[in-house]
Amino acid sequence: MLSWDQSSSVARMRQERAWVEVDRAALAHNVGQLRRLLPTRTALMAVVKADAYGHGAVTVAQAVLAAGATWLGVATIPEGIELREAGIQAPILILGATNTAAQVRAIAHWQLQPTLCTPKQALVFAETMAELAPTEPLPVHLKLDTGMSRLGTNWQDATEFAQLVQRLPQLAIASVYSHLATAESLDRSVVRLQHQRFEQAIAQLRQAKISIPRLHLANSAGTLTEPALHYDLVRAGLAIYGLYPAAHLQSVLSLKPVLQVKARITQIKTIQAGTGVSYGHRFIADREMRIAVVAIGYADGVPRNLSNQMTALIQGQRVAQIGAITMDQLMLDVSQVPHLQEGDVVTILGQDGNQTITADDWANTLNTISWEILCGFKHRLPRVAIGERSQESGVRSQESGERR
Ligand SMILES: *Cc1c(COP(=O)(O)O)cnc(C)c1O
Repeated sequence: MLSWDQSSSVARMRQERAWVEVDRAALAHNVGQLRRLLPTRTALMAVVKADAYGHGAVTVAQAVLAAGATWLGVATIPEGIELREAGIQAPILILGATNTAAQVRAIAHWQLQPTLCTPKQALVFAETMAELAPTEPLPVHLKLDTGMSRLGTNWQDATEFAQLVQRLPQLAIASVYSHLATAESLDRSVVRLQHQRFEQAIAQLRQAKISIPRLHLANSAGTLTEPALHYDLVRAGLAIYGLYPAAHLQSVLSLKPVLQVKARITQIKTIQAGTGVSYGHRFIADREMRIAVVAIGYADGVPRNLSNQMTALIQGQRVAQIGAITMDQLMLDVSQVPHLQEGDVVTILGQDGNQTITADDWANTLNTISWEILCGFKHRLPRVAIGERSQESGVRSQESGERR
């Protein structure tokens, strides 16, 4: 076999084809903007589920904690373990449901904090914790359903639920919370209803003399729309990543997109009028054209449904994508861009000069939401952290650009 220096070669290859750039300075900026909106008594939880919405959970968690977030939210136990293994010590709430004894043991071992949605689940937790016989009770977060019709005990049964948990010495209630279904909507009727139900549940808990250390209700949209929804903590996902839950919320604060997707040109060629491009010849050149082949495709998370409907940025210019997007490659019409070379970098999503392409642009074309676009970038794309890293303590350092 030919010799090959694995460590240096792999590092160099990270930016040879296509990658996701994650801007730590933009993360810090967005956390700062959210903190300015919140009263000091309200803590900021950064929701970093789904690999931090595709940005890379460890890099994001370290950056947002250094910038003033104090809680992290994940969907699953493995997502929490990944953060603990990276040395992160902040409290981590698991937003999803966990039910089995094995899950309880993992949660206790890794000092994660579960969401409890039903009395039955509370009993499983108490029973398993009793077997583990820890010195401290496990902090648990009670989830109420106030109108989302997803996880949680019906808000009308909040007191009964909390009383049951309170009687279990293995568990300590760390918060009571609920989740909003329509907080980004201009129509406030459902938000108002959910808010009222949450308030009624709180009043009943108070009447029953159950003390709750922490209440929370708001996602990003709730955080941006109404101070009355802030309570003791807000759970912000999308806004941390610099996107707005809805266009009408852009005036509330100034967020910076954190993620950019870049790829290299691998070949440039001239094709004649009448020539078809890519699978199915869904694009036929109507003139002589210069086209660039770019090393990114739907296996990287560029949705195939954007074929013939997206643009990219090169040297500050916007160019059209042409033909079907393939698994690993796509083609651009670069007839109007002078002096291009193979190896040049194309911005697929992000900013180049005064041109930008946002996840919202893609979401609008595809009739979906920016959350889904961000989560769609696959692991084949290395996450490359750029921007200053803030000073942190107690967190194992991660080299800039390290593959996670
Ligand atoms: C995902 C999630 C959030 C964050 O939502 P954004 O709209 O991205 O801010 C907050 N709370 C819960 C329960 C979630 O599942």
